[in-house]
Amino acid sequence: MLEVRHDLARWVGRLSAAAFDARLSSKRAVDRSGVWRFRELIPPVEERFIVTRGEGATTLYPIDADSALARFAGAHHLWLKHEGENPTGSFKDRGMTSGVSTAKRLGMATVACASTGNTSASMASYAAIAGMRAIVFIPEGNIAFGKLSQALAYGARTVQIAGDFDAAMRLVEEVSVREGIYLLNSLNPFRLEGQKAIGFELLQDLDWEPPDWIVVPGGNLGNNSAIYKGFSELHCLGILKRMPRLAVIQASGANPLYRAFRAGASVVTPIEKAETIATAIKIGNPVSAAKSVRAIKETRGVVEEVTDQETMDAKAMIDAAGVGAEPASCVTIAGLKKLTAAGTIKPEERVVCILTGHVLKDPDATAKYHRSELTGFTTPHANAPVRCEATLDAVMRAIC
Ligand SMILES: *Cc1c(COP(=O)(O)O)cnc(C)c1O
Repeated sequence: MLEVRHDLARWVGRLSAAAFDARLSSKRAVDRSGVWRFRELIPPVEERFIVTRGEGATTLYPIDADSALARFAGAHHLWLKHEGENPTGSFKDRGMTSGVSTAKRLGMATVACASTGNTSASMASYAAIAGMRAIVFIPEGNIAFGKLSQALAYGARTVQIAGDFDAAMRLVEEVSVREGIYLLNSLNPFRLEGQKAIGFELLQDLDWEPPDWIVVPGGNLGNNSAIYKGFSELHCLGILKRMPRLAVIQASGANPLYRAFRAGASVVTPIEKAETIATAIKIGNPVSAAKSVRAIKETRGVVEEVTDQETMDAKAMIDAAGVGAEPASCVTIAGLKKLTAAGTIKPEERVVCILTGHVLKDPDATAKYHRSELTGFTTPHANAPVRCEATLDAVMRAIC
């Protein structure tokens, strides 16, 4: 695994929170982007190579302490940073603007990834904007075509490999080396650079007053590693005064980092078969495990696990608050609820949960929950549609 190292000494005393804030009133595309607004700390790409869709600039929702959601989570000072508001509906766009811009700088004509989810959707879109060819490798048999529809729509060449995800991954790596195709899977270090900006932007949203905790879902574990990397750079530059603690939440059926954390191990052992309703974090062998272990350690962070039932109940609360997110995002509130109940996170501490994907990414799971059609789940917060006859009397009865 490679990692980008910035020459931070060059920026000491020359970068400030005020300079980043000044860009908020600009109309230039690179200032409006919630990634390139922090461009000194993103890999240097000349402006003519930058491929941007105005990603980032997502809402930080303050959650009222008296609201049902805050009480559910047990947190009095809670914010939700909604990364589902990115152009293709997930935080992957932040990494993709930096990854595809790097591909363009290098003169690459084709980009590729193995993915069945948000990564392929994002890559396909940014490649189309850049005028590049996009190739998406997917394993046969295990296809969630709902999640793939965006990749198809944005025009990516989609190749179904007769094998599992690992086979697809191995082949995409081989083909990329052979054909000079630029690989944009999670192991690409330039993607993490763009993802760092989630942390930069939420600090800016909070007027540079760091929260006590940042809560993120953990799948391939790139996101939490990226947020930590960005914060440690800001800390070096004196812009971040105090390091927030990280809480990484995994699904109990896809929990290799949680198991390592519990055992006090510094090496993450992959699990055989990952299983969870939160498909975006259904990963047994996370690519960025080593980086994540360091991020947890350096921030005095914690790892928690939640069941699919807890995730879907938390999702119902986030959705009903009017904010809404896809299942993987909702492990944050489910995990926060457990961590406040255990006293690990105190009710008066300032907490930001990262909602990673849009509520429309997985409408199936949402509709099934509310219709109580999810097998093996109870649905205490279900809001089922009511059938009624087409008469005024029947309608009056239905709406009261
Ligand atoms: C990719 C993704 C995740 C997992 O992030 P990692 O960096 O792989 O840990 C979580 N939620 C959503 C919606 C995602 O698309």
